[in-house]
Formats: sequence, structure tokens, C-alpha cells
Amino acid sequence: MCGVIGVWGCAEAANLAYLGLHALQHRGQEGAGIVSSDGRQLHLERGQGLVADVFGRRDVFDRLPGRRAIGHVRYSTAGSNSLVNVQPLTVQLGGGFAIGHNGNLVNAGTLRKELQDEGAIFQTSSDTEVIVHLIARSRQRSLLNRVIDALGRIRGAWSLVMMTPERLIAGRDPLGFRPLVLGRRPGGGYILASESSALDLIEATFVRDIEPGEIVVIDDDGLTSFHPFPKAGRAACIFEHLYFARPDTALWGQDVYGVRMKLGERLAIEQPADVDMVVPVPDSGVAAALGYAQKLQIPFQLGLVRNHYVGRSFIEPSQQIRDFGVKLKLNPVPTLLKGKHVVVVDDSLVRGTTCRKIVRMLRKAGVESVHLRIAAPPTTGPCWYGIDTPTRAELIAANNEVAEIGRFVGADSIGYLSVDGMHAAVADGSPVEGHCDACFTGRYPVPHDDLERRDQLGLFET
Ligand code: AMP
Repeated sequence: MCGVIGVWGCAEAANLAYLGLHALQHRGQEGAGIVSSDGRQLHLERGQGLVADVFGRRDVFDRLPGRRAIGHVRYSTAGSNSLVNVQPLTVQLGGGFAIGHNGNLVNAGTLRKELQDEGAIFQTSSDTEVIVHLIARSRQRSLLNRVIDALGRIRGAWSLVMMTPERLIAGRDPLGFRPLVLGRRPGGGYILASESSALDLIEATFVRDIEPGEIVVIDDDGLTSFHPFPKAGRAACIFEHLYFARPDTALWGQDVYGVRMKLGERLAIEQPADVDMVVPVPDSGVAAALGYAQKLQIPFQLGLVRNHYVGRSFIEPSQQIRDFGVKLKLNPVPTLLKGKHVVVVDDSLVRGTTCRKIVRMLRKAGVESVHLRIAAPPTTGPCWYGIDTPTRAELIAANNEVAEIGRFVGADSIGYLSVDGMHAAVADGSPVEGHCDACFTGRYPVPHDDLERRDQLGLFET
């Protein structure tokens, strides 16, 4: 869970990267960083916290000169949440090298051990640093070939932006797990971004997706595209559509909002309910709830109001405060709900603790009955490719039947979307064939060869 941006050939490049990172803030809230290039050297500014916290002062941009920049928002899925892991990572390689990574490598532990055995000293605990060491140790001559050599050795999910003072290099893993799009700014500059919504914000025009396995190099001669890896099928993360990407993003040829509406419509067909109103869990359940309500012609009501000023950073790991978390974020509208039969729609159910609190909250507000509908299948497996999910032990659906989950959350009824229904909703109108659905089916497209499955760091907080 991270977001990346690249800017090439634009005045105030670092400022554009900063604005773009704002549009990608949902992809990572632990840290943010920007590296700019003035053509001679790289300049880095980074810090922990939200984009506005890290880059909130104008003088930061005085220290980020040049018409080229890359940026990153971080949510750690490998490596701890500390400043040293905040990206872009920069190293003294050639005239300077910086890298920002969205995704997760499945052989980083093995490679790290191999590299350490050969004498490499790691500065961070992030899997991205493995890539840097592989580039540094490659026996290829040109930087591009060294990068390709290194990328050929890593496995898993990677959408990358890299920069030297003279060049921007970007690419996606051969299976295309995570998104990366190319845009153009008026006046000719290039933009790369995790999501098209970042292009919209900085008035760049969407050109195309970077293709799975494609590497692009942008320099003073323009953009050159390479396809150095054998074609390997497709594993576009379906959870980007369900939860992670912004609804206003165009993801792999489809608008996310439309897909979520269709997920809700399918859910209505598969799991109807005879109720007075449909209430979304904001914001993630809104589009699916709307699709659900429209399909069954039931009134859609914003019965839960979200406080948008509570960031994840305020939800501290202590259990006492975590229990507070949902109340800090959501509050019911009792006059709307009292005495009513209600369907609550959320995009996914992971540990079940959020829904349990929501159900309690709604009962306290006086609902007559509450029926939970989830616009995704049961989440039964952790993600190895960059979505922060808890360990299998914490995933309620990995260890319980649906009826037991219903009892745990305290709902009068519970219904999930089927795997086939999810695929049908996403496939409808999609130019992309082949989604990764491992978190729902256990079909992991790239096996994990690390001996020790990393602890998920307990960072998943709701
Ligand atoms: P829970 O079932 O209590 O673990 O929480 C489920 C809620 O967390 C749903 O509202 C989802 O929108 C949200 N959610 C799902 N996946 C993630 C994730 N990887 N990180 C943060 N929130 C998530």
C-alpha cells in the first residue's frame, strides 16, 4: 500500500509531485517523500506523517529545485514504520539514484540474506532496498541494463519510479499487480502516477497505463519504452477495484466508481434484503451501497456520518484507543434510523471488529434490525503483493463460517458477494483479463519463497 509519482520536464516539478501525492494520500499515510533533480544532482526531502505535514512549509520547495521529481507516500507492508524506511530511497550510485516502490516483493527476504552473505550492508528494513543493492552489484554496464538485470531477479509486485539526475526510469512487474499510469502536462512534460486521479489534480492528460513488464525511460530525448521480460499472464489486483483505489480513478480502462456500483448491484441480486433503507459504511462502501439500493429500489440514506478529520495516524495501537477508533470516525443519525430495518453495505470485512462496532452503534441508535451486506467475498488470505492485511489468524473469514461471522458482528443477517459475482462485476466492460484474487481464493499467482512469513507488523488498524 503505497503511491508513487514522477514528474519530468515541468516547472516547479517538486510542487507538482507534492500536489499529486495529495491525490494519492489514501495509498499511504505513514510517510511521504520527494526527490528532485536539477540536472546535476538529486535533492531529497521526506518525513513521517501525511503529505501536508511533511511538505507544509514553502521553504521545503526551495530545497527541491529542478524540473524533474519523483515522490512517494508510504504505508509499510514490509519493513517497519520509521523515518529510515520513508521513500524515495536515495543512494550514492553513479551521480545519485532514487527509487520509490509500490508493491511487495515475495523473495526479498531470500535475496536480502544472499546479499548480506556477500557483504552488503542494509540501511533500511524495507524490501525496496534489495532492488538498490541488486542494481549496485549487477555486472551489466549501462545503468538501464543494471536496473533490468535487478528487476529480473525480484518477484512479486512492483510499480516503480526511479531517478538519476539525468533520467527517470519507471516500470511495472510482468504480472501488473499494481497500477501505474502515464500522463502529459500542457507544455510537454511527462507525469507518472499510481492513479489517474493524481493526473487530474495537476491538469495532466491521461495517455495510457504503463504495461505489465514495461520499463520506460524518460530523458532529454523523450520517452523510450522497453519490454525486457517474457510475457507472464496477468494478475491485476482486484482489491484495487474493491477498496484501495480512489473511486474517481480510471483503473485499467474502467472507472472504479462504476465497478463498485456494479459490485453493489450483483450483491443485491445475490443477497437481497427486504428493508426500509440502505446505509453505506462511508466512504469505502458508498458506491456499492448505491448500486445495491438502486437495484432493489430501496431508499439510500447516509445513516452513518464520517468525520473526515480523523486520520489513521490518530488511531494509536493501544487497544483502548483502537476501540474508540470507530466512534471517532463514524456516528449514526438516530432520527433517520430509529425503528427502521436497515441494510448496511461495506466494501469488505477483514477482522470484523469495525462492523461489530457499527452494528452495536446502530442498535443503540434504535434500528429495528440490521442486515450486513459485504460487496466482496470473505477475505480468507493475507496479501503478499502490497495490500496490508492482517495475518491469517486475525482474518475472521479464514477461521469462521459466514453464519459465525454474522453472530460475531451481531447482525440479524449477513451476506457476502460470491467470487464469481465479484469477477462478473469487474469483468463487465474490462479490457483486462486476469485479476489476482488471492485474498479471497487462496490462489496466489506468485509463490512466496521466504522461509519466514513476515509478521504483518500490526499496522492494520480500523
Ligand atoms: P475490519 O473487518 O474491522 O477489519 O474492518 C473492515 C474495514 O476496513 C472495511 O470498512 C474496509 O473498508 C477497511 N479495509 C479493508 N481492507 C483494508 C486495508 N487493507 N487497510 C485498511 N482498511 C481496510
